Amino acid sequence: QPDGRLDVSLQPFGWRQRLLLAHDISPLTRLEQIRRDFVANVSHELRTPLTVIHGYLELLDPEDVPALAPVLGEMRAQSKRMGQIVEDLLTLSRLETQEHVVDERVPMAGLLATLRKEAEALSQGRHRITLEATAGLDLLGSPKDLHSALSNLVSNAVRYTPTGGSITIRWQRSPEGATYAVSDTGYGIPANHLARLTERFYRVSSSRSRETGGTGLGLSIVKHVLNLHQARLSVESTPGRGSTFACHFGPERLLAPEN
Ligand code: ADP
Repeated sequence: QPDGRLDVSLQPFGWRQRLLLAHDISPLTRLEQIRRDFVANVSHELRTPLTVIHGYLELLDPEDVPALAPVLGEMRAQSKRMGQIVEDLLTLSRLETQEHVVDERVPMAGLLATLRKEAEALSQGRHRITLEATAGLDLLGSPKDLHSALSNLVSNAVRYTPTGGSITIRWQRSPEGATYAVSDTGYGIPANHLARLTERFYRVSSSRSRETGGTGLGLSIVKHVLNLHQARLSVESTPGRGSTFACHFGPERLLAPEN
């Protein structure tokens, strides 16, 4: 087949022999392609009508239609939420089909200061937010995608930590390169959920995620962005005590800052 795919591996087989295994994965690849195209098309088609609905809801003045006032706020919030889900699905579709990123310098001092400000804006004084950053360490990659991945971890930490808790953002060298980590003293995650966190729409508690404005796609986006940068995500969590989400970057992704 012209677009056929084979999964080929060489296995040890007896003394000084190897077995060549070829597995035809074309049907699976095609199904996956159909799923991706479908999600991308649906999301794209929903974008315009949602923008129109959202625009009209913003125009409505609750004082003109007093009977509508109690529901207008809820309608606006829900249409904004739908818009966010559609945008996240479109981002995921793009990341899934993208094979590599266009490398640019990502100045970490500026990015970390922005992430801290975002955390403070979202927290509105409900948490203690600390930044511990190693100076002299920039990243190489897509500034926009890295910002969205690193900021997702910050917003999750704020959303899943009750008032009075602490959040620490760290950027430091590590044996394998450098690590960006966000620790919180929040709800934590039971061990049996950890392996599935980066699946689309996977949530430990749907109601808590919805209440705090989550789309259920944040960690999927993080995983895809990190894959494109040959980086990996690790999670350590203790229910009732808190979590640490860390992104591990290799030496090929690190740069000394420009003067
Ligand atoms: P959501 O929009 O639901 O937050 P994510 O993909 O960002 O979607 O996260 C998936 C799930 O992982 C969340 O619904 C939540 O249950 C759990 N989670 C993510 N970050 C944290 C955290 N810092 N503390 C506790 N639970 C978390």
